[in-house]
Amino acid sequence: MIGLPELPQRVSIREVGPRDGLQNEDVILSTADKLRLLDALGATGLTQIEVGSFVKPQNVPQMADTPEVFARLQRRPGVIYSAIAPNVVGAQRAVEAGADAVMVFLSASESHNRSNVNMSVEQSLVAVANMAAVVREAGKPFDAVLSVVFGCPFEGHVAIERVLELCERLLNLGAGQLTFGDTTGMAYPTLVQQVVLAFRQRFPRQPLRLHLHSARGAGLANILAALQVGITEFDSSIGGIGGCPFAPGAPGNLCTEDLTHMLHEMGIATGLDLPALMECARMLETMLGHEVPGQTIKAGICKHLTG
Ligand code: ZN
Repeated sequence: MIGLPELPQRVSIREVGPRDGLQNEDVILSTADKLRLLDALGATGLTQIEVGSFVKPQNVPQMADTPEVFARLQRRPGVIYSAIAPNVVGAQRAVEAGADAVMVFLSASESHNRSNVNMSVEQSLVAVANMAAVVREAGKPFDAVLSVVFGCPFEGHVAIERVLELCERLLNLGAGQLTFGDTTGMAYPTLVQQVVLAFRQRFPRQPLRLHLHSARGAGLANILAALQVGITEFDSSIGGIGGCPFAPGAPGNLCTEDLTHMLHEMGIATGLDLPALMECARMLETMLGHEVPGQTIKAGICKHLTG
């Protein structure tokens, strides 16, 4: 193994399937099914699970029962159950429902932000400040996700200087953790490294999480690129569901069990029980009534094949 670049020994995965995955599915799972899935996911060793979002039910009917999901959730010790809030009312509801952490979104490009929430980035920053106040007053962490960092479907390239400036503003508002989202799958390995290194140079001690997508097939290559520059926190979705705005069934979110399989093969610890994750993906297929995009449940675990 002489000559290989040094990689982190351990990686932490946040599971986003119950929110980012399910909200992109046509099938709306019952609350009971969601609770079964969350319970099974909680038993795999995951320590961070995105449970749902506090948006208007008419906007995202898949997430309408998020308050009930939180109310009936069988919490496992050591697991952070987070939620998304789109505005102050959502943040208030998330806090009241018992979310352990609240995540807010902001686009790194003006056009994407306008198309997403019909506000300028400056207007969104005011809204984020108000949300942050609500969440912090409740004593909960507020995490910020910066979307389209690696490319905007309307504007193309997003200037790294702009990304770093927005990071500064979000950190000043008290964001505990920053996540960079490759919302439409435009990242490629060298870009991931350039962006991460620029971030590190400006904020040497600030942790950074990546939410990578695989809409153009570069997802796991981007993970390797990120590992090589020291990123150890990633988002992924059980079964690989959700996250693709272009075509239903196409890969969007990175698949949790595929990512875990690759990391384990590379000797990188995740703390996750891969066969248990694969059971979750199979359970999800049954609940949704269709195959999920994940590959490992089809191909099998290499170590099992070779004994
Ligand atoms: Zn996603």
